[in-house]
Amino acid sequence: LVMRDGVLVESGPTAEVLGNPRHEYTRQLLRAVPSAATRGRRLSDAPEDAHETEAPVRVAETGGAVLEASDVSKTFELPGRRLLQAVDGVSLSVAPGQKLGIVGESGSGKSTLARILLGLETPDAGSAQVAGVDWNAAHGEARVQARRSVQFISQDPLGSFDPRYTVGDIIAEPLRGVLDAAARDARVREVLELTHLEPELLPAMPRALSGGQRQRVSIARALALRPSVLVCDEPVSALDVSIQAQILDLLDDLNRRTGTALVFISHDLGVVHHLVDDVLVMKSGRVIESGPIDEVFDHPQQDYTKALLAAVPTLALTPVAA
Ligand code: ADP
Ligand code: MG
Repeated sequence: LVMRDGVLVESGPTAEVLGNPRHEYTRQLLRAVPSAATRGRRLSDAPEDAHETEAPVRVAETGGAVLEASDVSKTFELPGRRLLQAVDGVSLSVAPGQKLGIVGESGSGKSTLARILLGLETPDAGSAQVAGVDWNAAHGEARVQARRSVQFISQDPLGSFDPRYTVGDIIAEPLRGVLDAAARDARVREVLELTHLEPELLPAMPRALSGGQRQRVSIARALALRPSVLVCDEPVSALDVSIQAQILDLLDDLNRRTGTALVFISHDLGVVHHLVDDVLVMKSGRVIESGPIDEVFDHPQQDYTKALLAAVPTLALTPVAA
């Protein structure tokens, strides 16, 4: 049964409805499902934002990698003095504008690695660098600059907002002490435009927004200081397929329009195959396979990667014309 706005628009045997959808809404839903086949095309019905708007300032200054990890490891102590190696000797490098995916089963260390890259977790061994600046050695102004260059998008935007803040407060917050009030307002308007949020939402409380709007607000806040890289940890995992399509299209547009690199963490291999240029496959804290996404996902070398890919549920039906 396919429902929209409380109305049943189409029904029948699964293979028939999904293989040969009659209703435009069903077709739209199917078009929104990300996979290898959707690479390079829009998932949502929103038109593309092709024009380049702005370059993230800090990219131009660095030239080299915007984000790097050199042999980082992190061990947690569990009750009973048992040790758990969450991240084990991981190295990676993110070039300006690159879209890097990180996949792996739950518990493979993706989020811990993200926290190390963001300077929120100190590795036991190895080091992470933002635009060539080592988190371990970044103090004072250097740390402030590093914090501005790498921004975080989480699965749960509401949990990262101050509950007393309006949408306008949330987006303007990183700009306090950086820009004066007039310049702050101007920058807030710019990131609203970049993320397709209506200025009417500025006085709203985030609780009153939809899940897709909340994620747009968190992306707008992250973009305020023109970061060179966004680290996105399962950013669309809590969203339904239509809203997921809009947010994935938005991230792709922003990557193209602003040159901001993306580190995109997801357990959904279809989403990753749709979006990224290169991928790292993590297992038990290690990177066991990496390379261009088509190479790794079309010709996986490791049994673990093959098993991950084999477990992806697909629409094994006649392809739907876009
Ligand atoms: P993923 O994001 O791939 O699901 P995580 O990085 O969240 O993996 O976790 C990797 C492993 O480290 C898991 O076994 C998790 O339980 C453990 N872990 C993560 N953070 C902590 C912590 N603060 N204390 C103890 N164990 C942790
Ligand atoms: Mg995680």
